[in-house]
Amino acid sequence: MKPAPFAYKKAHSLDEAIALLGEKDARLLAGGQSLIATLNMRLSAPSLLIDINKLHGLNGISEKNGAIEIGALTRHAQAEHSEVIAKHAPLIARAMPYIGHPAIRNRGTLGGSIAFADPAAELPACLLALDGEVEAAGPKGRRAIKAADFFKGLFETALAPQEVLTAIRVPPAGKGTRVGFAELARRHGDYAIVGLAASARADGKGLSDVRLAYFGVGNTPARAKKAELALARGDVDAAVSALDLEPHDDVQATAKVKKHLAGVLLRRVASQLLETRP
Ligand SMILES: Cc1cc2nc3c(=O)[nH]c(=O)nc-3n(C[C@H](O)[C@H](O)[C@H](O)COP(=O)(O)OP(=O)(O)OC[C@H]3O[C@@H](n4cnc5c(N)ncnc54)[C@H](O)[C@@H]3O)c2cc1C
Repeated sequence: MKPAPFAYKKAHSLDEAIALLGEKDARLLAGGQSLIATLNMRLSAPSLLIDINKLHGLNGISEKNGAIEIGALTRHAQAEHSEVIAKHAPLIARAMPYIGHPAIRNRGTLGGSIAFADPAAELPACLLALDGEVEAAGPKGRRAIKAADFFKGLFETALAPQEVLTAIRVPPAGKGTRVGFAELARRHGDYAIVGLAASARADGKGLSDVRLAYFGVGNTPARAKKAELALARGDVDAAVSALDLEPHDDVQATAKVKKHLAGVLLRRVASQLLETRP
């Protein structure tokens, strides 16, 4: 199938992109790795595509004001091979190879992935696990939105219709930071059936500040807060029993299977966090 007809404009500044978003049924085009597929399948039919690929200042990874800032137009492959990400945002480094395939990671952007908010995507869960935030720019200026407030529903975010996601920010990993990542997919590169991104702090022989963010278990990435408390005590069996998730059936698996897989992943991620991996 071919997309429905649409107009195309290349934005030359952030202000121009924001102004163009005021036009009826306008949509931003970043890497196109999700949007073009939805156009081709006629799951969406915007009347105007605003290409933001040439905007200055939205691409790059830096340490800024005590955070790691990743510009919205940073390609997945850039993050995957970045020394700054490897050192200061190791959870994102671990997740990157699971996103699609190299060709998709060469074009797809971090901003596009967060703004698209696919419930089975890796990066939204990483942002939630890291207690990160999103920066958005719109007609009223810029604002920061915490990850916990950003993912509102199925493919739905807190971005207002005329807002552009400009960057994401995560706290830099410190000496005691522990991270864990695991997912189950039918084939490597497929969207996950269930996945888990996690962060914690080493605290003696145990853990503190445990954050477990699941993906593929509902409309948005979801914390498993009861399991986090049990895991902080080092009790993995109790954490699995306490798993407070309510997955639904979807095209990949039933809710029951997903809940079981969530427990399997929790054991794998727990051994990463507790560094008991052989
Ligand atoms: C075969 C295949 C397999 C894939 N597998 C995975 C996978 O396993 N895991 C995964 O996470 N992803 C996967 N993807 C999707 C990929 O990660 C995309 O790159 C990502 O979802 C969207 O990024 P993009 O830059 O391509 O955005 P686009 O496709 O250009 O845009 C996606 C949506 O986000 C909006 N948008 C884009 N940028 C911004 C912005 N800066 N501000 C506001 N809105 C914006 C667009 O308007 C559009 O609605 C896969 C894609 C394909 C084709």
